[in-house]
Amino acid sequence: MAFEDSLAFAQSLDQQDPLAHMRDAFHIPKINGSNEDEIYFCGNSLGLQPKLTSQYLNDELTKWQQLGVKGHFDCEFPWMPYHEFLTEESAKLVGAKPSEVVCMNSLTANLHFLMVSFYRPTQQKFKVLIEDHAFPSDHYAVESQIKFHGFDPDEAMVLLKPREGEECLQLDDILATIDAHANELALIMLPGVQYYTGQVFDMQAIADAAQHHDIVVGFDLAHATGNVVMKLHDWGVDFAAWCSYKYLNSGPGSVAGCFVHEKHHDNADLPRFAGWWGHDKATRFKMENHFIPIQSAEGWQLSNPPILSLAAIRASLDTFKQAGGISALRDKSKQLAAYLRFLLNNRLKNQVEIITPDDQLSGCQLSICINSNKTGKDVFNAIEAAGVTCDWREPNVIRVAPVPLYNTFEDCVRFVDILEASL
Ligand SMILES: *Cc1c(COP(=O)(O)O)cnc(C)c1O
Repeated sequence: MAFEDSLAFAQSLDQQDPLAHMRDAFHIPKINGSNEDEIYFCGNSLGLQPKLTSQYLNDELTKWQQLGVKGHFDCEFPWMPYHEFLTEESAKLVGAKPSEVVCMNSLTANLHFLMVSFYRPTQQKFKVLIEDHAFPSDHYAVESQIKFHGFDPDEAMVLLKPREGEECLQLDDILATIDAHANELALIMLPGVQYYTGQVFDMQAIADAAQHHDIVVGFDLAHATGNVVMKLHDWGVDFAAWCSYKYLNSGPGSVAGCFVHEKHHDNADLPRFAGWWGHDKATRFKMENHFIPIQSAEGWQLSNPPILSLAAIRASLDTFKQAGGISALRDKSKQLAAYLRFLLNNRLKNQVEIITPDDQLSGCQLSICINSNKTGKDVFNAIEAAGVTCDWREPNVIRVAPVPLYNTFEDCVRFVDILEASL
């Protein structure tokens, strides 16, 4: 489509947008107590609150008031199986079978618990492939797992670096590194979407290479779930984990998700850190000492989950469902990102550099570096003061994420107006 750089054109795109009404399903923050909506481009960090959320939370508070412990059983959405009400829609978001996903714990905790089962180093095959500039929590998790097994992280961590002068990793380089270390790699742990650059990784190609060399592959989907379309089951990914407070709009610190491929569900040899919620449901309450894991991703659960957080996730998943699911949202997301990219290039080509790769290799988020006499941090502060919410990531990036559930084409024009004025 030929884009135009004008508010009227942006408004016409919003009028034609079949998902425009979804914005009304969210609470949009206002600028400094005014009546004017913020330009909220921060759904990559904390997604906005769906209007369904308070209703679903209140339902659980009321149930607790009126039923006490009986809220676990005889009522609508009983707490005992509450996590099961999230399974079907969570599975659709990541391209899994329902038996392959479960909502539990937090993201970093899940990475650890999954590595307990899936990072099984031997003296020959003990290395882990990870990015040189992975999200720190992922780096710490991998590093500490390596130490836990008695290996030296300096030797055992194979770090992927972009080429000299480049920000993003090239698929060829990732695959070449896998080939070069194939006999020593026990695990590949990469993001689905990179948090700093917004680059979407070719998860299918990476999973293919991993399977070809008999290496376990896990993905951190913090920035991918609710953002891009995935087929974790078909790709043969071994495990994955994601948080629910970014594109999944389930509230700060809300419970995370995880995926375990069905090929592992009945493998009794896998080590795991077990808890009673992972035990066979039929005999869980016999309170016996012999652990029998549920033969699905649920078998990795430890504790009975925080229901208020799961209620927020259910509200979010219902909102995704109302929008027609992730494929429909992805179509709009591509258009929004393309329009924002067009506006930035049209007006500010010499002053901003978009480091996020084009086309299929980007999701909602564009990562922008400022090339002007002002520092990126100063520009960030100026646009925030003018009604934009986005985020700043050291060393030098402003991340902006137009989210298809609640952002508009008009937001993109207003954002670029403010950015231009601040330069
Ligand atoms: C957001 C994010 C995290 C956050 O981890 P928590 O355990 O939820 O605090 C971890 N890794 C990546 C890649 C992230 O983007």
